[in-house]
Amino acid sequence: MSEQRQGKEAVSAIKGTKDILPREARNWQQVEAFVKSSFELYGYREIRTPVFEATELFEKGTGQTSDIVTKEMYTFTDKGGRSITLRPEYTPSVVRAIIEHRLYLQPEPLRFYFSGPMFRYDKPQKGRYRQFHQVDIEVFGESDPAIDAEIIEMADHLLKKLQVRETETLVNSVGCEKCRPDYLRELRAAAAAVSASLCADCQRKVNTNPLRIFDCKVEACQELSRNFPEITGYLCQECEDHFRRFRSYLDLYQIHYRIEPRLVRGIDYYTKTTFEIVASKLGAQNAILGGGRYDNMMKEFGGPDICGIGFAMGMERLLSVVRLEKKADEFLYLAHMGDEAKKEAIELARYLRREGLECLLEFKDRGLKSQLSRASKLEAAWVLIIGEEEIRKGRYQLKEMRTGAQTEAGREEILRMLRRASA
Ligand code: AMP
Repeated sequence: MSEQRQGKEAVSAIKGTKDILPREARNWQQVEAFVKSSFELYGYREIRTPVFEATELFEKGTGQTSDIVTKEMYTFTDKGGRSITLRPEYTPSVVRAIIEHRLYLQPEPLRFYFSGPMFRYDKPQKGRYRQFHQVDIEVFGESDPAIDAEIIEMADHLLKKLQVRETETLVNSVGCEKCRPDYLRELRAAAAAVSASLCADCQRKVNTNPLRIFDCKVEACQELSRNFPEITGYLCQECEDHFRRFRSYLDLYQIHYRIEPRLVRGIDYYTKTTFEIVASKLGAQNAILGGGRYDNMMKEFGGPDICGIGFAMGMERLLSVVRLEKKADEFLYLAHMGDEAKKEAIELARYLRREGLECLLEFKDRGLKSQLSRASKLEAAWVLIIGEEEIRKGRYQLKEMRTGAQTEAGREEILRMLRRASA
């Protein structure tokens, strides 16, 4: 192939990334707006942090033995020689921001939400992308298990409102630094006994962090791990208590759940509660959202001893299961004939747009018939016809596309009529 031809070959989007085209983007906007306003109802406020951070933030936060840090980060050296990582998850960034801006000294509740892209070099498949989007909430300084249940209730309410059906709530406790070492000893012994049958990755995990074997996607490893000891049998009094009270609050909210003792959730920092909401319709990648408690992260990052809990929800997965009311865009198409009419249309569109009405004005040289058929194809709610006669009178033909009814009206009348119709 000649160099010239090569240069003309179309460049495609990178594997594992996806364009969100305008029709789809409408649904995204609708869901994002709804999700954000739901979080606000529970006292959460938006926080926005940079897309890239120092690599060590995630090594320290997400954890050296997690799949995210060992295999999935988009890490590069910038021109200043610093190691930078595109955020693979959100929690470490918000913890960093709280410490950096000393937000814990302010009177407002430490409840945050966030929405934006995440990056993981994972194997792309349906429901799993390399750039994906999460909405996320985090609460700090609430150690009472009532909050663990409240955030699940918030997610549950939101999913119901978006008409997501056939979901299941899975809960677990992964213990704390007091009770986990005993469990890990037993788990390591059980995993070591079947080590030869585990994948190479899991064989390494037997020594580094056997808990991470539960995250493995290899069928044989998942099968073997079903016979491993369960953490819920090893919880200390405090964790046991927390887990019991957490479930009693879920009962209070009448939220059905299933205890899933293998739900360790891929990330090293969790303490006590972990949970996921899965949707049967999603297939292999069935988790819509997941989260848990992380009582030590702030302290380990050099901040005050403030506990934390949160969850992240995948927008691509959420959008594939929500049912949205179809909302047509209500807009006015301005059809104009001739140079003078074009100027009049420009002036009218400017006036109506300033009054908050959506107008579409196109500048291709088309006859009236062709403009009307275009307006109909675009599903315009109204068409305004502007010709020489209309300019002379200062009154225009307004056609309602749904009924075909046509009236003559001046600019203020048009504004009033369209406002009334879209109210
Ligand atoms: P995690 O941060 O791994 O706990 O994931 C939280 C949620 O983000 C999951 O329940 C998914 O909905 C979504 N998610 C995680 N990884 C991906 C991915 N690679 N592609 C699409 N969605 C993802």
